[in-house]
Amino acid sequence: MADYGKMMVCPACGMRDLDLQSYASLLVLRSHVGLFTLECPSCQAKVTSIQAIPTELDATVSEAAKKLNAGMGCPRSH
Ligand SMILES: [Zn+2]
Repeated sequence: MADYGKMMVCPACGMRDLDLQSYASLLVLRSHVGLFTLECPSCQAKVTSIQAIPTELDATVSEAAKKLNAGMGCPRSH
């Protein structure tokens, strides 16, 4: 799998490769795409970006969406 999901860059200090898995909050926009908010480990700026949800997070996110029942999951998901 391509590692395309981990390419966030801090616009404040230019820190690269912010870890999506250490997000402060995540708003699922649609299947596999989310609005991530992270705190930059270098300058503590809040960084918000729309990113593909990494496969590692996908199960967790789907679980959370199901629990919230907030219409965030795919209608066809089980
Ligand atoms: Zn930064």
